[in-house]
Amino acid sequence: MWIALSITLAALLAYGYARYRREMAAVREQIKSLEQERDALADRHQNAEARAEALFNGMLDGVVLVDADGIIRLANQTIYNLFKPQGDLRGRTLLAAFQRHELTEIVEKAARSRQEIELDFGLVDAERRAIQVVANVVRNNENETLGTLLVFNDLTRLKQLEKTRQEFVANVSHELRTPLSLIQGYVETLLDGAKDDPANTTRFLQTIAKHADRLTFLIEDLLTISALESGRVSMNFQRTTLRSVGEKVLEDLTAKAADKQVQLKNEITEGVQVRGDGDRLQQVFFNLVENAIKYGRTAGQVVIGCRPGKTGMVEAWVRDDGPGIPKEASERIFERFFRVDKARSRETGGTGLGLAIVKHIVQTHGGEVWVESEVGHGTTFFFSVPLPDQAEARPAAEIKPAA
Ligand code: ADP
Repeated sequence: MWIALSITLAALLAYGYARYRREMAAVREQIKSLEQERDALADRHQNAEARAEALFNGMLDGVVLVDADGIIRLANQTIYNLFKPQGDLRGRTLLAAFQRHELTEIVEKAARSRQEIELDFGLVDAERRAIQVVANVVRNNENETLGTLLVFNDLTRLKQLEKTRQEFVANVSHELRTPLSLIQGYVETLLDGAKDDPANTTRFLQTIAKHADRLTFLIEDLLTISALESGRVSMNFQRTTLRSVGEKVLEDLTAKAADKQVQLKNEITEGVQVRGDGDRLQQVFFNLVENAIKYGRTAGQVVIGCRPGKTGMVEAWVRDDGPGIPKEASERIFERFFRVDKARSRETGGTGLGLAIVKHIVQTHGGEVWVESEVGHGTTFFFSVPLPDQAEARPAAEIKPAA
C-alpha cells in the first residue's frame, strides 16, 4: 500500500511540475510580448519627439517659449542663428538672453491684455536686420497660463523689397511727369496765342511729338519689364543662329547709325548657334547696339561679335569706341533708371530701362551680362547664352575670340 501511495504521489508531483512549467512558459511569453510592446511604444515616442524637434528647429520663424516666471524654457535653432547668443538660452530671463527690455515688456503686456502683441525692432548686427516679434500667451485646457510664446520673423528682405518698390514707383512717376508737363506747357503756350505764328506752331508741335514718343517708349519698356519680372513672358527657346540675329539688328539700326556717321560691323562667327528666343535675343542686341550708337562717339565704330564662354556657353559682345563708362557707374549700370548722364539719356530719348531689360532677358536664358570699359577707351558689353545642345553644338574652340 505504501508503494501504491508513493507512486500516486510521485505521479501527482510530476503532473503538477509539468503544469507549473507550462504555466511559467506562458507567463514568460506574456512578459516577453509586453516588453516588446513597451519597446515599440518607447521607439514610437522617441521618433515622435525627434520629429517634433526637427520640425521645431527647421521652422523659418524663430520661436521662444518663456514660462510664467519669465524664464526661457525652449528656443529653436532659428533663434540661435538669428541672435547668435553665447551658450544655452534655456533657464535665462529674456533680458539676460537678448538684452532687450522691450521683449520683457511685450510678454508682460500680452499676459495683462490676453491679446497678441506685436513689436518691430532692428538688430545692430552687420546686416542691420529688421525683426518682427509676436508675443502670445499659451494656456492649457483648463485655461491656466503656461507661459508666453514669442515668434520672431526676419523681415529684412521684405523691407528691402518694399523700399525697392517705393523707389521704383517714385522713379516711374517722375519719368512720366516730366514729358507730360512739358507737353502741357507747350499746349498751353500754343493755346495762349503762339498757334497764330506758323513757325512756332510747327516747332512746338514737333517738341510735343518728341515728348509723346518718349512717353510711349517709357510705357512700352515698363510693360516689358513688368512682364519679364512677373514671368508672364513665355520664352520660345530654339536653336538660333547668332549671326543672323545680330545682322537683323544692325539692319534695323542703319539709319540711326548713319545719322551719327557710325560704322556698324558684324564679326559674329558664321554658323554659331545658341539655344535662345530669337526675338528676345534680338531685343538684347538692339538695346546694346542702340546704346553704343547713342553714347558712342560721332563717326565712331560699333562692332558685334562672339567668343567661347564657360562650358556650354557662348559670349556675345557689343563694342564701341566711345567715351566709356566710369568704374563706379559700371557696377550700377543694369539697375532700373540708373544713368551715367541723366540729361544725355533723356535728350536721346532714353528710358533708363534698356539695360535692365537686357539683364532680365539674358538671365532668363541662364546667362549673365556684364560690361568692361575704360574711360576714354570705349565700352564692351558681354552677355552669355547657352549652346543648343552639348552633343550637337559646334566646339567652342571654333568660335572666333573677341578682337
Ligand atoms: P537709357 O535709356 O538711359 O539709355 P539704359 O538702361 O539703356 O538706359 O542705359 C543706362 C545708362 O548706361 C545710360 O543712360 C548711359 O548713361 C549708360 N550707357 C549705356 N550704354 C553705354 C555705352 N555704350 N557707352 C557709355 N554709356 C553707356
